[in-house]
Amino acid sequence: MAETHDAEQIQSIPLDKVRNIGIMAHIDAGKTTTTEQILYYTGENYKIGTTKDGTLAMDFMKQEQERGITIQSAATVCEWGGYRINVIDTPGHVDFTAEVERSLRVLDGAVTVLDGKNGVEPQTETVWRQAEKYKIPRLVFVNKLDAVGADFEMSAKSIKQKLGAEYVVITYPIGLGKEFNGIIDLVKMIAWKFDDQNRAEIPPVKIDIPEDYKDVAAKYHEELLEKVSNYDDDLMMKVLNGEEPSVEELTAALRKATITGELHPVLAGSAYKHKGIQNLLDYVVALLPSPLDVPPEKGKDKNGNEVLCHASNDEPLCSLAFKITTDPFIGKLTFVRIYSGVMKTGTYVRNVNKGVNERISRLVLMHADKRQDVEELHAGEIGAVVGLKATSTGNSLCDESREVTLESIQFSDPVISEAIEAASKADQEKMAIALMKLCEEDPTFHFYTNQETGQSIIAGVGELQLDVNVTRLRDDFGVKCTVGAPQVAYRETIRKTAEVEGRYIKQSGGHGQYGVVDIRFEPNPGKGYEFVDAVVGGAIPKEFIKPTDDGLRDAMTRGLIAGYPAIDIKATLFDGSYHDVDSSEAAYKMAAGLAFKEAAAKCDPVILEPIVHAEITTPNDYLGTVLGDISSRRGVTDGMEAHGNAQVVSAFVPLANMFGYISDLRAMTQGRGIYQMTFDHYQEVPKTVQDEIVKKRNS
Ligand code: GDP
Repeated sequence: MAETHDAEQIQSIPLDKVRNIGIMAHIDAGKTTTTEQILYYTGENYKIGTTKDGTLAMDFMKQEQERGITIQSAATVCEWGGYRINVIDTPGHVDFTAEVERSLRVLDGAVTVLDGKNGVEPQTETVWRQAEKYKIPRLVFVNKLDAVGADFEMSAKSIKQKLGAEYVVITYPIGLGKEFNGIIDLVKMIAWKFDDQNRAEIPPVKIDIPEDYKDVAAKYHEELLEKVSNYDDDLMMKVLNGEEPSVEELTAALRKATITGELHPVLAGSAYKHKGIQNLLDYVVALLPSPLDVPPEKGKDKNGNEVLCHASNDEPLCSLAFKITTDPFIGKLTFVRIYSGVMKTGTYVRNVNKGVNERISRLVLMHADKRQDVEELHAGEIGAVVGLKATSTGNSLCDESREVTLESIQFSDPVISEAIEAASKADQEKMAIALMKLCEEDPTFHFYTNQETGQSIIAGVGELQLDVNVTRLRDDFGVKCTVGAPQVAYRETIRKTAEVEGRYIKQSGGHGQYGVVDIRFEPNPGKGYEFVDAVVGGAIPKEFIKPTDDGLRDAMTRGLIAGYPAIDIKATLFDGSYHDVDSSEAAYKMAAGLAFKEAAAKCDPVILEPIVHAEITTPNDYLGTVLGDISSRRGVTDGMEAHGNAQVVSAFVPLANMFGYISDLRAMTQGRGIYQMTFDHYQEVPKTVQDEIVKKRNS
């Protein structure tokens, strides 16, 4: 088994010995404990905490500890047998898909943790299918084999049964529950015995495979040879000829099939009782890909041509900022994955998305409990830059000589909002600063003031997301505040063309006001607001054109029917009149506003509602129920695709009818259904719904 080396040597490790991995699991399977143990055995974290007393190194945010879920991902570096392993913490909660996806984007491989009592559980399917989407090679760690009722074989079989995925067992437990005290390595056909008293610091002892396990080990070894040879012709020939391949040959073939994502090696263990972690680490380095084994990252140059960024230090720098956090001691940390080239302190990099240069003043490698300053980050590596100013999540940071925009991480637009009110003036100020920080950390979380009501509004992609951020405001930032019920972001528009006149004339004594505008309003679907100046012969002097435009923009924010912002309107200013003395910018602004009001009456206005594109994954058995439910929500099913033994339903549904969907879906599918939704477009609401919205708004 591999030994740890000095962590300081980590920088000189060659690229083929780098592994960027995530530990993926649903809540309670033991992801945190497994990660903790990995850090312990790689020598990074000697004091083992437990979830119960909340001292775990990775779950450092108070919020996470209270909720017992990992929301924010942290990247930590450790070292095993001369290999550098970057562990990216992936959140396990389904409602935080943006968080999961952004961490998956930078991983090369992953370990899926199963609870050995239950095997594949409903929520395992979520993380599994997310990893599948990004084609991430995976090992499966069957955890909790020390627990009463643990069943290793059932757990392994459930991978095929419930996920429809191919697996192969590579380590097998000796004993289960209280008796679990060793592991058979089916690749090397050797066994390890663990300390009887479950002491973490006592290394396992290599033993012969116990007599009463020889048959089962032989059976699983046979199965291993058979399964792996399906993916390797040379191995197949050997096996058919009855020859035993060498450990190296078998490992190489297994690695190949793992990296292509065709086969998922399964390992046994108990993170809590310190069993099987070293074996897991050995196989992470032996079987999961290095940055050199994955396809080069694709990006686009200034002209939109494809650029391939190879994992080589000799290419110009190209990197992706995938996560921003605030560290209480050193400030803002921007986590980056370097795809090609070298990032050096003291140099400038180009933020392609923002069009600015940023100075790299300090680079750090984050360990779970400490940080290490480094001079350089190389191709394939993951680290953090301290104090970047303009960069946000998803931006590409490049060498100026080769500007490449990497495919940005997709973030949904905000579709749900809540009013938030601070308890006092002092809280108000604290709240604004804290909300700005939270927005920086999570690009799908927004904060603004409603111009009309003066209310502070938070907006985002899901109810739970808003809830978590409000709890952080209260607990982490000490802000006392209250929030209102969630609201859908409606919009308004017009359906007919009309020409209207806006007259703002006040001429009763003294200096008067005079502004008259003639405007044609037309529907402008999908093109937003457009203003055209078609005034001829100086009917309105040039200096009053822009105020007219401004007046319209202002009026648009106040809407046409129920006060939701208006969109997709073309306004052509084609005539008007002026007064030598009384005309002013303010008068034309007012006149434009009056014209807009007039348009509201003549142009057949309508309320638009956000329609989300939902991808719902459900086991076949519940497909009918799920489809029926979608149409009862005014949803339209747009396609279906089989994924293993599940169906992925694609549908367009009004967001207003999707509040609380996660629990409804769980109820409909016995907890096995999952879904993801993103805002797609705005669409006219039916008349009855519009009447209801107006009534509610006016009440
Ligand atoms: P996470 O939610 O996936 O991060 O899971 P945790 O690591 O927080 O573990 C959830 C619970 O399972 C905690 O109470 C752990 O102590 C317990 N647990 C984790 N690993 C094991 C294990 O190997 N055996 C047993 N018996 N319990 C475990």
